[in-house]
Amino acid sequence: MAHLPTPGSSSASPYPHLLAPLDLGFTTLKNRVLMGSMHTGLEDGRKHFPAMAAYFAERARGGVGLMVTGGFAPNIAGWTKPFAGMLASSGAARRHKQVTDAVHAEGGKIALQILHTGRYGYHPLCVAPSRIQSPISPFTPRELSAAGVERQIKAFIRCALLARDAGYDGVEIMGSEGYFINQFLVTHTNHRKDEWGGSYANRMRLAIEIVRRTREAVGRDFIIIYRLSMIDLIPDGSSWAEVVELGKAVAAAGATLINSGIGWHEARVPTIATSVPRGAFTWVTKKLRADLRAAGVNIPVVTSNRINTPEVAEQVLDDGCADMVSMARPFLADPDFVNKAAQGRGQDINTCIACNQACLDHAFQAKLASCLVNPRAVHETELVIKLSPVKKRVAVIGAGPAGLAAATTLAQRGHLVDLYDSADRIGGQFNLAKRVPGKEEFEETLRYFGRRIEATGVKLHLDTRMDAAALIGGKFDDVILATGVTPRNPRIPGQDHPAVLSYIDVLLGRKPVGQRVALIGAGGIGFDIAEFLVSEPGHSTALDLPAWLAEWGVTDPEQARGGVVRPVSTPPARQVTLLQRKPGKLGKGLGKTTGWIHRAALKMKNVEMLSGVNYESIGAHGDSLGLFITFGEKRENGTVLEVDSIVLCAGQEPLRELLEPLRAAGVTTHLIGGADEASELDAKRAIDQGTRLAAVL
Ligand code: NAP
Ligand code: SF4
Repeated sequence: MAHLPTPGSSSASPYPHLLAPLDLGFTTLKNRVLMGSMHTGLEDGRKHFPAMAAYFAERARGGVGLMVTGGFAPNIAGWTKPFAGMLASSGAARRHKQVTDAVHAEGGKIALQILHTGRYGYHPLCVAPSRIQSPISPFTPRELSAAGVERQIKAFIRCALLARDAGYDGVEIMGSEGYFINQFLVTHTNHRKDEWGGSYANRMRLAIEIVRRTREAVGRDFIIIYRLSMIDLIPDGSSWAEVVELGKAVAAAGATLINSGIGWHEARVPTIATSVPRGAFTWVTKKLRADLRAAGVNIPVVTSNRINTPEVAEQVLDDGCADMVSMARPFLADPDFVNKAAQGRGQDINTCIACNQACLDHAFQAKLASCLVNPRAVHETELVIKLSPVKKRVAVIGAGPAGLAAATTLAQRGHLVDLYDSADRIGGQFNLAKRVPGKEEFEETLRYFGRRIEATGVKLHLDTRMDAAALIGGKFDDVILATGVTPRNPRIPGQDHPAVLSYIDVLLGRKPVGQRVALIGAGGIGFDIAEFLVSEPGHSTALDLPAWLAEWGVTDPEQARGGVVRPVSTPPARQVTLLQRKPGKLGKGLGKTTGWIHRAALKMKNVEMLSGVNYESIGAHGDSLGLFITFGEKRENGTVLEVDSIVLCAGQEPLRELLEPLRAAGVTTHLIGGADEASELDAKRAIDQGTRLAAVL
């Protein structure tokens, strides 16, 4: 049984609870920070193992107490997809040694996650308690026989033993998020009549057998984390009594730590997106921890989801929600998170903004993960930032995401960098994005870059519009144009009407917006403006947990199985119509893992979505403003939308008028970000491009 010391022994520590060691009896974790499991794609190919070793070593060096790898299947049936990462042979275990050796050399600890996907497996060999297809895989699983269940248990145990042979400090048994073990626990997916189905004792038998027999096999001095689904967020999910019973049984079966699982993958409630309030689910872990303690079960409990700063993590521990905090994406954003916190440099942390754009979205597209705010993540061996052998004078024009990334990386490498922007602050389009309800996190990136400018010695010139003559006269070795974008002019007859607004005027509050609004363009910005306009001014549910829980229908799992009830949304602040010319569903180009959230959020606010539209003209229509539209190539079904305001969100054009004169004068000039390519521009590409250019200049 683990022994829990009193946290906060050192009063000098900036985060006394977070940085207190955790004694697990046979080993001690140096702090209360768990780097949660995250699929990076490195798991899925042997050629990636050196990169995986470097990736984890960098995070071990950064001071994290315990790390968990991305999921590895214990057998073929448990694959996430064909030929996905699997640990089922001693040959594979030998490959993992390079990871564990690299981590241990940095003084870190690492556990391997055993992930059996069951009916979530994206392959024809998937298995499950019952033959019930999941909504997120086209493959119907094969129902396991009783002997088949036994084979899966043996595979888990073999995998844990191989992990121990490979030098891991422990394993995490993935029992949540709707994967294989979770599928046995609930009647939603388990219709069995044998000893693995029916009563709850039968349904939880698989989880307990796996933990108990794994403990017997690996011995006492090996960490077993059980990731327990504390709130399923699906209608027929576990009841609270079942969750508590499982927690007690898992502890008795030999688990060292219980980690929090929040929501199945098929749940229609966002659990980690940026619009989810920080620490939105820590109350669930707190509830379980309290019930376990009341029953005399003292196993350390780990909380998770949308914890992205040391302040939030510290608060969560101080509030008694958990004994440890799991953060996953924050370690993609900043491998030095813990060291910076420990040194009292929390403001220097590159904060995960929970956008999912380079991590989860990549994982779902079978691409290697990275991080929007840290393109080196998962690319440590390939994107190396080294001191430059020569010191160049470089001018960077534009302090948006691309320019900021380029300028600070160049200065870090020892170059002399002047960064110019005509605005009175850094950030470019991020200053607009952060005003959108649910995108408040973008401010953190601006804070981070502000600190980086100071730390790296970039000379910042705000309120300064540089022209070509000044740049040519400045005799820079290189000029980087990160001048960004300007809104595209859609050239709709009548658009010069005073009630036709640019999205910039709307976000900056420079012009009043009426009650009925049509939005021309349904890209990232059209969706953002829609969310901005349907929300009450100054109110964001991302900053109001009770309102957010009500809006998504989340309740105490003691009140309803799975913790879901009918959502209760406040009425929209405006009546909004979102339009696009393309046929088909709106928001197709939004992020894979977040597009559905944006669509659902707008649906709740009764936003009308029209596609296949032609914008014929704009003009007065009685007392209203009229937007005359037709549909399809034949321009049929003409109708007039009566509105009070129209907002243009028709995409962007690059701003690069400095390029020609500079190149003509022989100045070495580089284009990055929106100035290079405005279509499909996003901050991920901008920061990546700025960093990569700066790494080689
Ligand atoms: P966008 O995503 O390229 O969307 C432009 C929209 O304007 C499209 O709906 C397009 O649809 C429409 N459009 C294009 N040309 C038009 C024309 N001549 N007349 C009328 N409509 C026209 O650009 P954006 O919305 O300006 O966003 C800029 C970038 O920022 C995007 O690439 C986006 O990824 C990024 N961003 C991302 C997010 C996010 O949530 N991840 C949020 C905000 C911004 P039709 O051509 O079909 O009409
Ligand atoms: Fe966080 Fe976005 Fe980076 Fe993912 S890509 S780790 S969500 S900042």
